[in-house]
Amino acid sequence: LSTWSTVPAGPPDPILGVTEAFKADKDPRKINLGVGAYRDGQGKPYVLTSVQKAEALVDGSKPDKEYLPITGHAEFTKNAIKLAYGADSAPLKAGSIAATQSISGTGALRIGAAFLARHYPHAKVVYLPDPTWGNHIPIFRDSGFEVRKYAYYNPATIGLNFEGLKADLLTNAPEHSVVLLHACAHNPTGVDPTPEQWKEISDICKQRKLFPFFDMAYQGFASGSTSRDAFAVRHFVSEGHQIALCQSFAKNMGLYGERVGAFSLVTADPEEKARVDSQLKIIIRPMYSNPPAHGARIANTILSSPELYAEWETEVEGMAKRIIDMREKLYNVLTNDLKTPGEWGHIKSQIGMFSFTGLKKEQTVALAQKAHVYMTADGRISMAGLNSNNINYFAEAVSGAVK
Ligand code: PMP
Repeated sequence: LSTWSTVPAGPPDPILGVTEAFKADKDPRKINLGVGAYRDGQGKPYVLTSVQKAEALVDGSKPDKEYLPITGHAEFTKNAIKLAYGADSAPLKAGSIAATQSISGTGALRIGAAFLARHYPHAKVVYLPDPTWGNHIPIFRDSGFEVRKYAYYNPATIGLNFEGLKADLLTNAPEHSVVLLHACAHNPTGVDPTPEQWKEISDICKQRKLFPFFDMAYQGFASGSTSRDAFAVRHFVSEGHQIALCQSFAKNMGLYGERVGAFSLVTADPEEKARVDSQLKIIIRPMYSNPPAHGARIANTILSSPELYAEWETEVEGMAKRIIDMREKLYNVLTNDLKTPGEWGHIKSQIGMFSFTGLKKEQTVALAQKAHVYMTADGRISMAGLNSNNINYFAEAVSGAVK
């Protein structure tokens, strides 16, 4: 008998499984709107020009292949948190933000969840928005947290359920619960709180002593501006919250496979920061020892060169703009050209990489089988997968599916 004969087959990953089904489809009209990776106007993966230039500079400097320290490339991490918190952030200037490089956003979440599981001095209960990025649930569960939900999305309005959110955080979540917040471009819904609503959420977290744990995987992608997209993070910090923050450079620098990210915690002062930093090392060392160097060198070259930084910001804005443009076009084709039944305004009002179309599971299955159009079963589409060559075909398929 094999040692592994009792291992049950697990289900495919709900997002990466869509790519597998797409790859197996031989129809030339097929479209993959499953995974959240940016595509250019020709539907091709996009390597930013600023990244190409930074990589050439890194290669030209012929760096050695020595290990990075446990918490990674120190200058990269310093520049990454400056991008998130802003150069004039009080805890940044005071030197009281503990930070480490991470294996992209996922690794940042995992380090953060593990750190809180070990050192957060209250119950290990985390509230995640309903719905949230699917991987949040096992990341926190596997780190030892009890995972609960707070109201976020209202299917009736295809918008934010702000009353439900407030009720859950004000009355249902016990004091000191950890609350996961998508800093911008909420995945999967594309629905974000307004600045005024963020201020209310900050007040509620203060009043109820909730711990704000930010996941910022799309800084720059929502509005095209890295500082506008950091509004919530910077507001909470300016209000005195000791936040946790996960950053990813997968989307905004297109460094997906390079796995570049950062995890940080606001602490009281440099002495406390030093203690927290020492414990981050103790968490990371047995997990993967130290992070890969190449992507962090690329990101740091961009973040530390004024010219490349300016070029990068223009490119982030360009990616965000192309997505906003596709939202406009899709809305127009669905409503004006095809007279598709229903209200489609949310396609334009949602922001970031994704749109929650409101399509039902059966409709997504039919779209894959009949039209070779692939999306996740919750009706989420990656707007970046649309371009002028496939948007009409896609809109016709959706229109057909709901008629
Ligand atoms: N958080 C959210 C909300 C995401 O959408 C993603 C990427 N899909 C991540 C974190 C992490 O991605 P990565 O590990 O590639 O940086």
